[in-house]
Amino acid sequence: MSSVRKLMASIANSLPLKHGISLWCPQHASLNRTRLPSSFRSSASARRYGVVSCAFANENREFVIVGGGNAAGYAARTFVEHGMADGKLCIVSKEAFAPYERPALTKAYLFPLDKKPARLPGFHTCVGSGGERQTPDWYKEKGIEMLYEDPVTGIDIEKQTLTTNSGKLLKYGSLIIATGCTASRLPDKIGGNLPGVHYIRDVADADSLISSLEKARKVVVVGGGYIGMEVAAAAAGWKLDTTIIFPENHLLQRLFTPSLARRYEEFYQENGVKFVKGASIKNIEAGSDGHVTAVKLENGSTIEADTIIIGIGAKPAVSPFERVGMNTTVGGIQVDGQFRTSVPGIFAIGDVAAFPLKMYNRIARVEHVDHARRSAQHCINALLTAKTHLYDYLPYFYSRVFEYEGSPRKIWWQFFGDNVGETVEIGNFDPKIATFWIDSGKLKGVLLESGSPEEFQLLPKLARSQPHVAIAKLQKASSVEEALELAHASVQAGAV
Ligand SMILES: Cc1cc2nc3c(=O)[nH]c(=O)nc-3n(C[C@H](O)[C@H](O)[C@H](O)COP(=O)(O)OP(=O)(O)OC[C@H]3O[C@@H](n4cnc5c(N)ncnc54)[C@H](O)[C@@H]3O)c2cc1C
Repeated sequence: MSSVRKLMASIANSLPLKHGISLWCPQHASLNRTRLPSSFRSSASARRYGVVSCAFANENREFVIVGGGNAAGYAARTFVEHGMADGKLCIVSKEAFAPYERPALTKAYLFPLDKKPARLPGFHTCVGSGGERQTPDWYKEKGIEMLYEDPVTGIDIEKQTLTTNSGKLLKYGSLIIATGCTASRLPDKIGGNLPGVHYIRDVADADSLISSLEKARKVVVVGGGYIGMEVAAAAAGWKLDTTIIFPENHLLQRLFTPSLARRYEEFYQENGVKFVKGASIKNIEAGSDGHVTAVKLENGSTIEADTIIIGIGAKPAVSPFERVGMNTTVGGIQVDGQFRTSVPGIFAIGDVAAFPLKMYNRIARVEHVDHARRSAQHCINALLTAKTHLYDYLPYFYSRVFEYEGSPRKIWWQFFGDNVGETVEIGNFDPKIATFWIDSGKLKGVLLESGSPEEFQLLPKLARSQPHVAIAKLQKASSVEEALELAHASVQAGAV
């Protein structure tokens, strides 16, 4: 690192966070907003980086990224764009694969085997955003050192070293934590780890699920969120007897309105998926061979199953970094608007970072790939240049299901903004439907199913500009197109 860049990085590390914060953790069962009176500031003490001996197992040790997932892939690309990767960057990963676009695992990866399912290297980062496909060779060509299948287990922030599971000692100058999340599990004592029970977070999990699906007859999906919805759609695509169980009243309760959820639920039912709502699991039962046979519910009923997929949320992977002065009490590692933790020289990005969501003046941890990409780019740009502007994220969630060749229809929705206030639903799901969230007369969030590319492009503009929209007028729109046009006109009127 040149001395100028080093100085910039240390200046960047010393800037205090100025705005107020609150908590939004969208992977929780409900939107959880907590105002925090905090005035979190990053400590201004200068960090040191000097290599005094060659006793370290990473050759290119100036910048180290811990975690080899979505955010790490995009961070690597940004280092390359700045000419700062070659000989300087090391990525330490728990997985055996170079970073890939994780959302594919519950989408094209689970297509029926005769419908051209996605496999690596087809979906390495950054194909999800139209970038170059970063295969293991790409990292070699760019001079990036990759350490696979060796998770970081400890950190010494004074010595600026990391230890790995295999006992390697690694040195870092600047450290970027990109460890993502781990899937929440059902306890062992109720059968959460029996053979035939699956969780899905990485390629190894997806491969294990596929080998079960090949033999499966009766599939139970536990959880009505993104993962549950996507896996249930996949199992229906495999023509398996599929039941989805969840404790809420409807699918994706933290985002969908009851009426919107009903459209999706009807579509799933038409495709053979059975629903058990408002249900809690008592335990999972196994046969004499130890393999799962059924799910037992608290209400005493039993649902037969030979394959069970649990999609009940995820937890930020903070464990190696918990007791070293970083704030992990906010449900992730707290960072400021440039992804600096409170420890100088240490940054956190992607799912694991709890960052100030400037637009809504609260702290958020967002478990979505768009944020993983953007936070990685923002953090590395801020680290390597004099840019000091704060991250200003507009929440964006999407899902795509039933996309395999020959499926009854493709389902594809996008949401931008904040799901607060009253809702107006327009359209009949044939194929389009849109939901608008309006709070104090302002359009705060919008979800669109089966829009055209132009219509999808309009959504972030609407959610970002929050135009004044008269609910009564919007309700009278006779089509999704007309409703979007009306909202767009309100943006233009506001801009005049
Ligand atoms: C099955 C699935 C489907 C999804 N679908 C969507 C979707 O449709 N749309 C959407 O927006 N988002 C989706 N997401 C969420 C999205 O994939 C994540 O938000 C994104 O991957 C976050 O990137 P990340 O780099 O922060 O974490 P990850 O991509 O999870 O990467 C973290 C990496 O760090 C590694 N790691 C953890 N601890 C250590 C350690 N101690 N040492 C070294 N390495 C470590 C992990 O093994 C992993 O490789 C999905 C997630 C999953 C699991």
